[in-house]
Amino acid sequence: MTDLLTHEEYRAVAAALDLPQNAWIDGSSRPARSGKTFETNNPATGAVLGTVAACDATDVDLAVTKARAAFEDGRWSRLHPGARKEVLVRLANLMDRNARELAVMESLDSGKTIYDCENVDIPESIHVLKWHGELIDKIYDQVSPASTDHIAMILREPVGVVGLVLPWNFPLLMLAWKIGPALAAGCSVVVKPAAETSLTALRLAELAADAGLPRGVLNIVTGGGDVGEALGRHADVDMVSFTGSTVTGRKFLHYSADSNLKEIVLELGGKNPCIVLDDAEDLDAVAAHVVNGAFWNMGQNCSAASRLIVQHGVKDRLLAKVAEHLREWVVGDPLNPEVRVGALISRAHFTKVLGYLKVAAKETVVIGGKVVAEGFIEPTVVEASHGSTLASEEIFGPILTVIPVGSFEEAIAVANDTTYGLAASIFTANGKRALRGARMLRAGTVTVNSFGEGDITTPFGGYKQSGFGGRDNAIHAHDQYTQLKTIWVDLSDTADTAIE
Ligand code: NAD
Repeated sequence: MTDLLTHEEYRAVAAALDLPQNAWIDGSSRPARSGKTFETNNPATGAVLGTVAACDATDVDLAVTKARAAFEDGRWSRLHPGARKEVLVRLANLMDRNARELAVMESLDSGKTIYDCENVDIPESIHVLKWHGELIDKIYDQVSPASTDHIAMILREPVGVVGLVLPWNFPLLMLAWKIGPALAAGCSVVVKPAAETSLTALRLAELAADAGLPRGVLNIVTGGGDVGEALGRHADVDMVSFTGSTVTGRKFLHYSADSNLKEIVLELGGKNPCIVLDDAEDLDAVAAHVVNGAFWNMGQNCSAASRLIVQHGVKDRLLAKVAEHLREWVVGDPLNPEVRVGALISRAHFTKVLGYLKVAAKETVVIGGKVVAEGFIEPTVVEASHGSTLASEEIFGPILTVIPVGSFEEAIAVANDTTYGLAASIFTANGKRALRGARMLRAGTVTVNSFGEGDITTPFGGYKQSGFGGRDNAIHAHDQYTQLKTIWVDLSDTADTAIE
């Protein structure tokens, strides 16, 4: 755990921050070619924090051209893996030295609590970059089992110029999840942060330059969906790795089909089930996981355990424990280190979640249900039937839907009856049943007697409409950013020797 400052001290750090404004192209900070800017707001107050370059397709084109030049001349793509490692590790160390500034900037720009930024978002981003950096010079290529008259090598080569389109819910961490393996593999990247949260990505680009990352290898184009679309449609982008909503992810498949058939990797939404069976042990610990799973980051989490599928026999006792735990989840100013529930990302998103709160009011609200202030909604637990709006749609806010069930079989059937398949949890003291359930659940990550996403060593991604094409995290993330080349060598004396 990081040593935290007081609320007043965090406010002082926030007031003294020098916020980046420009896009980052070819190793330097640049305004949009049009000169246009857009405002970025503090979700907690609605106040304008600053302005950011409003890039358009011409800026995207410039960034891609610079990324291509860097990739082709090999200044990074053909650098010795050990040298690439040194740069990424240096970057991680520089971030560590600037961790407090990054944490406060992230909290101000996203409404996330300083408690989470200090303890999770920033240290985890640093860890991820270091992990991928340190991995680069430990990955071996392969030789196939060909006959003794041949040697067949299977090499991994970087994909090329990569577009990375990011969501606003974990701005720096999602950036680290993508640039870690992409840069490690030797790709050049053009990053499009969410319009709501550009600041820490721009600050990271400055630190990357200080760490010795060559010009043109990491470019950041700021703006909204039109900038993402320009990247998705660009004919010289070799692949796009996208994290965001299923609706937008679907569009990237169209962009690819309509342009150069670039590879598309999608990490999308979820409506993740958390199953608690009658025999679950230590309900206090289960409740802590349920609360964390549903309300961490105000429920704005793709893997949020937003459906509590609970057996009748344990439901009331569990919900009583959930209520107890929620008393500690203070809602308020994200810069207050005592606060666990900050602001929703924007007034527009607040209005959307408010719509679901109104739907909840027509169901059985068990805990919460109120707006604390503009932008802030208290953690809410509501009982609703399987198939209802609350039990089906990704709310991306602090609303947990409880769905009572009669049996293990019914729990699994309800859990799987969704178009999503990102994550799932199962709580039971019966080990065999836990593992059988884990096998039966159609999700990319299943946690047993806990809530989580695994860690940097385990791949993360979805089944069904939660995504496809690759995984973030672990050594498997490198597969996204590399392609396989076969080099077949004939060792026989005569050129016409048959291949067996
Ligand atoms: P979003 O789809 O609205 O935006 C994501 C990114 O796409 C942003 O950078 C945005 O500017 C860009 N974009 C928006 N419209 C576009 C368009 N028409 N063409 C090209 N780009 C466009 O998602 P969001 O609201 O920022 O994030 C929330 C969503 O992200 C949730 O559904 C959540 O589940 C998902 N998410 C998934 C993961 C995961 O790993 N599976 C992680 C975090 C968030």
